[in-house]
This record gives sequence, C-alpha cells and structure tokens, in this order.
Amino acid sequence: MQEWCYEYLATGNIRRDGVHDTEISPLIKMIEDASDLTTYTKEILDCGYTGPVNTEHKESILRALALHITTKRIPMLQQLREGLQIYDLIKIIQAKPHECHDLFVIGHDDKVDAHYISSHLAPEMSPTGSLKQVNESKILEFFQDFLLELEDTQPEDDVAGESDGMSVSQIMQWITGQSHRHLLVSERQKFKVSIKFDHCCLQHTPNHSVCYPIVSACTNTITFPVAHMADYESFKTLLQTAVKYGSAFDRV
Ligand SMILES: [Zn+2]
Repeated sequence: MQEWCYEYLATGNIRRDGVHDTEISPLIKMIEDASDLTTYTKEILDCGYTGPVNTEHKESILRALALHITTKRIPMLQQLREGLQIYDLIKIIQAKPHECHDLFVIGHDDKVDAHYISSHLAPEMSPTGSLKQVNESKILEFFQDFLLELEDTQPEDDVAGESDGMSVSQIMQWITGQSHRHLLVSERQKFKVSIKFDHCCLQHTPNHSVCYPIVSACTNTITFPVAHMADYESFKTLLQTAVKYGSAFDRV
C-alpha cells in the first residue's frame, strides 16, 4: 500500500502529499497542463467536484481531485483498521510503526542487494583442508564478488533491471523465481540459497569443454561445475550465460 495509507492505519491522520491513483493522478497531470478544461468535464464531475469547470477554478478542481483519491480509499482503510484491531494489531503498529512499515508498504526496501543474497548462502562444503574445499571457497568468493560487481555497476534507479547489464534482482529471479526481497520477516529468516559443487562432471561425461551452473528454483539451489570455473573470468562468463539463457530450460 502507499505510504499515506499506512500512515492512516498507524495514526488515523490523512496526509495529502504522496497520494497516487492510477486513474486520477494522470488526470490531475493533464489538467495541470491544460488550457481548456471542458474536455475533462465528465471526469471532473465524476470525482465529486460541483463547482464551475474552467481554468479560473483550476486550483479548487485540483484540490477536489486530490481529496477524492483519499476519500474513496478511507472506507476501505477504516475497514482494514477495524479488522486489524480485532487482533490488537493496530496497537502493535502504533507501538512499532517503523518495524511494521515494511509489512504494508512496498518501497525501496524490497529491492534485493548483493548482501541480501550473500547473507543467505548455505553452501555444502567438502571437508576443511581438502583441495575440493579450497576450490569451493574460491567459487563462493567469485559469486560474492560477482554480486557486488553487479550492484556497483547497476544504475540507482534501474529497479526493474531494464538496462542491458545484468542486475542483482535478475540473479535473485534466476535463483528463486522472484526478483524482490521476501516481504515477511519470517520468510526472510527462512530464505536460503543452497550451493552445491559438482566436481565430477568431467568423469561423468569425458571430453566436454563447457558446463553451466544449474539452478533449481523450487529448492533455491545452485550447482556450480567446479572444473570449468578455475578463474573469475570463466566463472563470470558461465554464470552470466546461465542466467541469461538458463531460465528457459535449466530449471529442474
Ligand atoms: Zn562439465
């Protein structure tokens, strides 16, 4: 929900700024720029404005439209408030508005960053001190470096990963099937990315030159083919290719 809706739930106060409506907000924009309001008469009257529709009254028309956005939602929010009250949840929200905020408002905080993935890795490592384990640690480091590199090269406002470059949320999507953070704290705590290492692909299928990391989105598991990832560059190339093309056929 929008910030102002949450604030209403928490405090009962209605804020007039940062209010958005998919139909009325574009209308407000058009009216702000318009020199003739008659084309919008019907829409304006539909929003409950009763005064004369002309440019001299633009200010009061815009106020009425903004007010309409909030008033049409207040009854729903009131119901939600009553529902939450039954379980005393309103009290919890009032006592800890900041902690509860993210449960209701989707904002910048749902964006996945490198740390979010890195801190939930659950690698299945070989015994400490073995050569296998050394290689595994190296690949884990590659993976973390790769995530940080993506984060650093990603433009700030490129939330949807629309630029050509890969984004951390794309990696998240590849691993889990969803590109945002888990909304519930309990889900965040449960979330882990299992990492497995395949050391034997060359024994199973001799004489092949390329293998890609495989992801299983239902169990959040990535399997890295160790034999093909001796250095960071080869790791990066294989992972990028897998993420780019893998979602279509690599999911188990
Ligand atoms: Zn292989």
